[in-house]
Amino acid sequence: MIDKNISVIGAGTMGNGIAHVFAQHGFSVTLIDINQAQLDKAIITIIKNLDRQVAKGTITEVKKQATLANLSTQTSIELGVANAELIVEAATENIDLKLSIFKQLDAFAPTNAILASNTSSISITKIASVTKRPSQVIGMHFMNPVPVMKLVEIINGYATSEAVTNTINELSKQLQKVPCVVNDYPGFIANRILMPMINEAIYSLYENVAGVEEIDTVMKLGMAHPMGPLQLADFIGLDVCLSILKVLQDGFGNPKYAPCPLLVNMVTAGKLGIKSGEGFYNYVPSGKLIVPSNRYNRKM
Ligand code: NAD
Repeated sequence: MIDKNISVIGAGTMGNGIAHVFAQHGFSVTLIDINQAQLDKAIITIIKNLDRQVAKGTITEVKKQATLANLSTQTSIELGVANAELIVEAATENIDLKLSIFKQLDAFAPTNAILASNTSSISITKIASVTKRPSQVIGMHFMNPVPVMKLVEIINGYATSEAVTNTINELSKQLQKVPCVVNDYPGFIANRILMPMINEAIYSLYENVAGVEEIDTVMKLGMAHPMGPLQLADFIGLDVCLSILKVLQDGFGNPKYAPCPLLVNMVTAGKLGIKSGEGFYNYVPSGKLIVPSNRYNRKM
């Protein structure tokens, strides 16, 4: 059972949300990033998101203050994980970086600590293999935005112990999330199913079957998806979609996962979705969608 001390590595989009949710549920959270500016930005984001929860009446002002009191920041992994019972790594999606971080976690975290990764696509078994405690390494895949999205996809590596899976399962419920336990194969479940759908939507555009708005409208109104697949791809980041598709393609050796050439071209051209201001849609700096990008809104 995890009582109190959690460390979160990486204070970007996911890290600040993960830290927020643990702190809101009474855990003492150390948020760690190599970049002090990212830590400062993360705290500002957490305050803004807590303010929104207070305004909506989902938490009180007292709860907001208690949540902030549970949070501290750190730029050193060695100092930041010294007392951790659980470390959730949410650093940049890069295998070499993650392997190096997990070697450090293994060296500096207490021997009984659980080491979790929020990776979208990197093998948990591979990450675990660089540690001396593979049975205590697990995937804890939160969805974006973390304070809002209910799912935690829990990924068992080849060596993850049942006790560790049970602990993370119970902990996810304590955070008022819904955990789903899956095994460690490329893309796990979420991205194995989501990314081919997004890729097929991009192929439909590439083959001129329909325009951006038509494709997204069919999926929103026809399948009751809250967001169309092209808008969702922009939200996730087209570079991220491309790299996950490559993991699926390499991992299964199956051409059905080959990324659409249009996706490859857009990433090469720096059109990455919301974060670059243009993907299948154009965005103003706040991330608000304006119109489908003319370039891709082909009419029949
Ligand atoms: P991000 O780029 O927003 O943030 C990554 C952070 O990691 C940055 O603040 C960076 O400074 C920090 N970092 C880099 N190297 C570090 C190191 N050595 N030590 C400590 N911090 C370091 O990325 P993100 O979107 O938050 O993604 C983080 C992880 O979550 C990735 O593995 C990603 O695949 C996964 N994920 C992302 C999403 C999403 O929608 N963005 C959803 C689910 C899972």
